[in-house]
This record gives sequence, C-alpha cells and structure tokens, in this order.
Amino acid sequence: MERTKLSQEEIVRLADELETAPADEILREAVRLVDGLTFACSFGAEDMVLLDMLMGIDPNASVFYLDTDVLFPETYELVERAKERYGIPNLHQVRSKLSLDEQARQYGDELWKRDPDQCCALRKVQPLTEWLAQHEGWITGIRREQAPTRRGAKVFEWDQKFGLVKVNPLVRWTNDEVWDYIRAHDVPYNPLHDQGYPSIGCLHCTRPVAPGEDPRSGRWAGFAKTECGLHK
Ligand code: SF4
Repeated sequence: MERTKLSQEEIVRLADELETAPADEILREAVRLVDGLTFACSFGAEDMVLLDMLMGIDPNASVFYLDTDVLFPETYELVERAKERYGIPNLHQVRSKLSLDEQARQYGDELWKRDPDQCCALRKVQPLTEWLAQHEGWITGIRREQAPTRRGAKVFEWDQKFGLVKVNPLVRWTNDEVWDYIRAHDVPYNPLHDQGYPSIGCLHCTRPVAPGEDPRSGRWAGFAKTECGLHK
C-alpha cells in the first residue's frame, strides 16, 4: 500500500489485522502507511516505551509534547534526558497561546482549582487541536486497562474528535509489561513514578495514589473529571 490517506475501511482492516501484533510492528506499519504522523509524548511510562521503539524505527519521526507551563520539574528534566538519549531532532513543544499570566487576567487566578475543564481546554485541548489539524495521524500510549473510557480503544482507529487516524500500539499492554520493557531496555523514566505517581499530569492536578488505588485517581482529585479531553 502506498503512503497515503487511509480510508475508513483500511483503518478497520488494519485494526483487525494488527490487534495481536507486537507494539513495534504496529508502530512500523503506522510509520510506513501514514504520512503526516506525529507522536503525542507525555513522557509518562507508556510514552517512554513508545519513544524508545519509535526512535529505533524512525529517528526523524515527529514527536510533540503538550507543555501546559505547569508540568512537574521532574518532567521537564526528563525531556532533557530523553533528548540526550534519543536525540529526537523532530521534537516539538506545543503550548497554549495564552501565557499563565494572560490566563489569570482573563479567567482569574488558579483556574485549575475552580474549573479544570476550562483550564484543560485552554492549555491542552486547543493547542492539541491546532497541532493535529496539521497532521494525518497521531500515535498515543493509551492502554485499555487504564480507564473505562479507554476499554474500546483499537490499535488503529479513526479519531472522530480531531479528524485523523489514531494509532495506539500499547492498547493490550498491562502495567507490568510497560515496566518490564522499561527495565529490560534501560529506558529513562520520570522519578515520580517511584514516589506513588502512576499517572503524571500537571503539577497542580496530580497527587500520588496509595497502593491498590485506581492509578488515575491521582488526577484531578476532588473532581469527577478523569480525562483532559484528549482521548474522549
Ligand atoms: S491538568 Fe490541571 S493545570 Fe493542567 S491544563 Fe488541566 S486543569 Fe490546567
């Protein structure tokens, strides 16, 4: 098949054919088949696995991270360590047009405490929407077991919300498989994972979770919110 825009039928066929394929094979097929592909790297554990695989397949692959300006210092340090390890020449920092000061002037101080949906819309969803509009496919590290909202995810799917192909090579992986890969390949990771943070988002909206707690319960604790609006 030529590298071209995939039809809906081809996406469904690829989802079926690659459902049980290894993650690196899914990534290879995505790189081969989808022009204008970009990898959403949050620098969380799953995305470090994918980054390690992707840089081995296509060192010039487009990689981006959503910098909300309120990430943990450990996350910014990991970005630098990942650049040292992998190079990532085509790494893009995607940010809101609104600085934190402008946001505070227009919406009030500490919007994340009062209206995290609005804050995520301004600092994550809008910049992501603009970035994805320039692409034909994106790779994400979502796994089915992470949340009920992710249980129906497929390895290849049409992303209705953003209007492009979505590739999820780790959908079938367990948390243990992610960490086995990280240890086996000596992949750099965020030290916060060793301090009770299974899922790491923004500084103000992530807390550690107790052993046995839902891994995503540390995100937006105190709100019904479980997703930032990227994977609905
Ligand atoms: S996670 Fe919190 S600080 Fe980050 S964009 Fe969403 S509401 Fe704002």
